[in-house]
Amino acid sequence: MTQAFPLPKQHLSDKVEHFTESVIREMTRRAMQYGAINLAQGFPDFAAPAEIKKAAQDAIAADVNQYAITWGAKDLRNAIARQLKVWQGIEVDPEREVVVCCGSTEAMIATLLAICNKGDEVVVFEPFYENYGPDSILSGAKPRFVSLRPPQAPRGEWNFDEQELREAFQHHTKAIILNTPNNPTGKVFSRKELELIRDLCLEYNVLAITDEIYEHILYDGAEHISIASLDGMRDRTITINGLSKTYSVTGWRVGWAVAPSTVTNAIRKVHDFLTVGAPAPLQEAGAAALGLPPAYYKDLAEKYRARRDHLIPALEKAGFHCYLPRGAYYVMTDISGLGFNNDVEFATYLVQDIGIACVPGSSFYKHPKDGSQQVRFAFCKKPETLDEAAERLQKFRAHL
Ligand code: GLN
Repeated sequence: MTQAFPLPKQHLSDKVEHFTESVIREMTRRAMQYGAINLAQGFPDFAAPAEIKKAAQDAIAADVNQYAITWGAKDLRNAIARQLKVWQGIEVDPEREVVVCCGSTEAMIATLLAICNKGDEVVVFEPFYENYGPDSILSGAKPRFVSLRPPQAPRGEWNFDEQELREAFQHHTKAIILNTPNNPTGKVFSRKELELIRDLCLEYNVLAITDEIYEHILYDGAEHISIASLDGMRDRTITINGLSKTYSVTGWRVGWAVAPSTVTNAIRKVHDFLTVGAPAPLQEAGAAALGLPPAYYKDLAEKYRARRDHLIPALEKAGFHCYLPRGAYYVMTDISGLGFNNDVEFATYLVQDIGIACVPGSSFYKHPKDGSQQVRFAFCKKPETLDEAAERLQKFRAHL
């Protein structure tokens, strides 16, 4: 055997030099290494609905084992179009305006690859779900960040400065990436905020790419509004969603993008050469999932509310300052009262010594110092898991 030497850097793409591996997924590996409770990566530790598992099993038994149509099985595209009409009043042509991808992760990067040229900019609210940074870079675009500022009042909202947003639209801006309900803040963008974003998109001829993967996970009467439903936005919005969060099947990798046909055609081309298609039997199960009755979504949101209200008091008791989420299944916390130098030191201590994995706040910011006193916890877990986390948090409190 010849010894392997590291290849010199010039063999690598310059692009990959500009971002690191996902910290969220790294924290999952560390949780496994230390036998910690994983409140880092956002995936449920409870079962998916029996009906949809059965639909997946039936599809495999019926030999739906070969490629689906590259841009998505007809049944699933039809179901996506039907549900967008029901939930948001948006008319979609499933033949020309839908692309099914390997998760909303692929839908996002395929969209950016399909619309961006070198020199284009993409506006991103910060803190942001960490994929959006590398996605922009890989597509040749430059992300320009606009701050979401933490609430000042105890149960207040994260908000942004209108002037800062307007300024961000004036730099060869191709698109804005929105994520509502938002990861990691739990913010649910209001109609007024979306109208303001709409007005800027129209004024500066900018597209909106909206990641709505948490659309059904809402609390305290919050309402999810798709920006594509606002006047003037139907023809300049790419709406991204998927099965992962709504049906607790993050490993199935079925997501989609819905866009006007010209953009859809471009996304379909990119998607075809990236992955060819999402898993065929799971697309059939996806069509069944989208047919679940309204009571399913109500129950989903109510169960998540209970999980939120289970974890947050335990965190508060342990000394965290929590920003109450209105949607999605994460809680951003401020750790400045806990006496650690920064978020990474804190997260390392928590996973190794206390047995809880969280995500260091810096992974949601361009400049690590902006998130250095924040960490994010995911509460998409069984009550027993949250009980155990609460117990370990007490131990943490005692150590301080
Ligand atoms: N959205 C999830 C999170 O923020 C993870 C998604 C992923 O790892 N692909 O934790």
